[in-house]
Amino acid sequence: MNIPLVDLKTQYQNIKPEVDGAIQRVIDNTSFIMGKEVAQFEKAFAEFCEAKYAVGVSSGTGALFLALLAHGIGPGDEVITTPFTFFATGESISQVGTRPVFVDIDPVTYNIDPDLIEAAITPYTKAIMPVHLYGQPADMDRINAIAREHGLIVIEDAAQAHGSRYNGQRAGVLGDSACFSFYPSKNLGCYGDGGAVVTNDPEVAERVAKLRNHGRMTKYEHDELGYGHRLDGLQAAILGVKLPHLDDWNAGRRDRAARYADLLADLPVRPPEHLPGVEPVYHCYTIRLEEGYDRDAVVQHLKDAGIGVGVHYPIPLHLQPAYRFLELEAGSFPVSESASNHVLSLPIYAELTDEQQDYVIEILKEALNR
Ligand SMILES: *Cc1c(COP(=O)(O)O)cnc(C)c1O
Repeated sequence: MNIPLVDLKTQYQNIKPEVDGAIQRVIDNTSFIMGKEVAQFEKAFAEFCEAKYAVGVSSGTGALFLALLAHGIGPGDEVITTPFTFFATGESISQVGTRPVFVDIDPVTYNIDPDLIEAAITPYTKAIMPVHLYGQPADMDRINAIAREHGLIVIEDAAQAHGSRYNGQRAGVLGDSACFSFYPSKNLGCYGDGGAVVTNDPEVAERVAKLRNHGRMTKYEHDELGYGHRLDGLQAAILGVKLPHLDDWNAGRRDRAARYADLLADLPVRPPEHLPGVEPVYHCYTIRLEEGYDRDAVVQHLKDAGIGVGVHYPIPLHLQPAYRFLELEAGSFPVSESASNHVLSLPIYAELTDEQQDYVIEILKEALNR
């Protein structure tokens, strides 16, 4: 049996007429850049997030970069974030000339540990960038309380968390602004690169909208130096078709996650756990192997049997070659480093069948000698 980590083919087959129609419409109208498709999707995505504004941009990385700029964060500043994330989180902070300051994670949620944030605050700290890893919102009440006390901005990296909730509120309105990726494999993905900045702050929304499009005010008048970071019409049209399905797809992921948890009950692995009050969206279904198992060998065994597995993430940011200049040694963030050696992600999506899940568990048992 072949079970991909992400099954975009089956998803497309289920919505093919809608997607094909939207693509044809964009071509017929030649609305390739900005225009109606982008504006309509922005409105729909803001509503989905229960936020005032969504500004479509070229990628999740672009969203992080532009949100940092829009909040006035730049050289000389520091931004606190987690080292246990996709590289783009730290990269965007560095791209605006700012120093990422890493804070270790909570061993249960894998999200930034609020207990450790205050010790990392300096006179240069401007913002906290929590990541809602694997689709589980970070502990935002505590993070926001710390931010308020110290006058810091909170920018959510919500690239894995479209549709998740924290105490009833959607990712997207849990801080001052939030950054989403529509990379194809994300919970809401387009057929190329795309992203959005979501906020309730009209000034931030306006600034991001200007910066993504060469600092333009009108066609030929440029207010400031900006960037080419627009969302294109084809991607917006595809996202507009997929968005109404997202809550169902996320519910399907939760259903599959609950079934995995039952099937894993007697195995030497820790299934994902989430905070009370959190509704996760399982961008990844990431389990942790108990001590004594060779994670890479288990991953290889699953791969050899045709199962798409991932490791999110094998190298924490502070140990990446690109961040050698920060001079952070192995041992600096022990919880992140330990997680990076023990986690693996199993296939998860709404379309995953019982039969496929049973096969994944059968092969996993083999790999664990159970
Ligand atoms: C995917 C992702 C990004 C970057 O998004 P792109 O659209 O690929 O640029 C940033 N942060 C996290 C946590 C991600 O998972």
